[in-house]
Amino acid sequence: MVNHRGPEFSDIVQECESHLRTLIGTKNAIMFFAGSGTGMMEAALVNALKAGDKALVLANGQFSERFAEIGVAMGIDIDSLEAPWGEEIDTNDVATRLAETDYRAVIGVHNESATGAVSNLAELGAVIRKTPAIFIVDSVSGLGGIEMQQDAWGVDLLISASQKALMCPPGIGLASVSDKAWALIDEDDGKQRFYWDFRKAKNAATKGQTAFTPPVTLLAGLREGLRMIDEEGIPNVLARHRRLGEALRAGGAALNLSIFTKAPILSDTVTVFNVPEGLHASAIVGNMYKEYGTVIAGARNKLDGTVFRFGTMGALDESDIILDLLHLERTLQDLQVPVEAGNAVAAANEYLRRG
Ligand code: PLP
Repeated sequence: MVNHRGPEFSDIVQECESHLRTLIGTKNAIMFFAGSGTGMMEAALVNALKAGDKALVLANGQFSERFAEIGVAMGIDIDSLEAPWGEEIDTNDVATRLAETDYRAVIGVHNESATGAVSNLAELGAVIRKTPAIFIVDSVSGLGGIEMQQDAWGVDLLISASQKALMCPPGIGLASVSDKAWALIDEDDGKQRFYWDFRKAKNAATKGQTAFTPPVTLLAGLREGLRMIDEEGIPNVLARHRRLGEALRAGGAALNLSIFTKAPILSDTVTVFNVPEGLHASAIVGNMYKEYGTVIAGARNKLDGTVFRFGTMGALDESDIILDLLHLERTLQDLQVPVEAGNAVAAANEYLRRG
C-alpha cells in the first residue's frame, strides 16, 4: 500500500481532481471521502444546514425522499415539493416556493435511479441562483453518463460516488462546492459534523490529501476510470450512453414493454420498464440471472414488483445491449409472455446501424 500522506498518493488525488473538474464542469476543489452515496448525501446536509434550518426537497423519487429522511433525522425543517415518481418537478413551482419562504437550500437529485427521470438542473439552477438558497444535488448515478455542468448550471453543492458511471468499485464519495455554498459551510453556527466536515476536507485537498485515511486502492481505480473517460472524450462517452440507452429502449418497445418514466428527459444510465401484466418483477429479474447470468434490478421501494431496471452505465458497448435484449426476450418467452422471437434484437440493431 502506498502511504496516503506520501507523493504517490497525492499524484493520484490530484489527477482524479483534474479529470473530475472537467467532467463536472467546475473550478471547485474536489473532496474525496471513504463513504457511499448516502454518506455523501448526509455529508452535504450536515455541512450546509443545522437543526431548525429550512430546506426544500424536490421529491419525485426514492433518493430525493431519502434526502428528506436524512434532513428530518437531523432536525432540519424540511418541506417537500412533490411530483409523482417518474415525473419532473415543475420549475415554476420551485420559484413560487422560493418566493414564499426563505429556504437555506433546495435539494434535488440529478438522475433518479429508481425512476429513470433526469432533472432539468440548468432550469432549476437558473431560478435558485437568484435567491439566497443554495442548490444541493445528488449525481450519484448521473455523473460520467449524463452531462453535468455544475458551474454553468448553478449547482452549489454536488455529491457523487464511485460505483456507477465512474466505473470504480463502491467506497469513494466525492463533493464539489461553490463559493456560495462555502459561505454557509464556513459558518460556525452549531452544525454537528466531524468526519464529514468539508472544511477539513478542503484543507487536506490543497495538499493532495484527504483529512482521514482514504480508500487508497479505490482512488487508484477511480483514476483509471477517469483516464478511460478522458481518452474516449467526454462528449463521446455521453453520446455512447445516449445511443445505448436509446437502443435498449427501441428493443424494449419491440417487446411491447412500456417505459415507467414520464419526465421529459429520460435517463441514459438507467432505463425503467413496466412489468407486463400478470407478472412480478422478481420473476423477470430472477430468470435473467438464473438462466442467462444477466444482472438487472427490480425496485426496493413502493414500485417493488411493478418495474424492472437496466443499468446502462460505464464501460459497455453495443454487444452488451444486444445480449441483454436477447436474454430479456428469452426470459419473457420462458415466462409465457407472447413475444415475437428476434424482434427486440432486430429493433436495437436497426437503431444502432442507422446512427
Ligand atoms: N443517490 C442515488 C441517485 C443513487 O442511485 C444511490 C444508490 O443507488 C444513492 C444515492 C445511494 O448511494 P449508496 O447506495 O452508495 O449509499
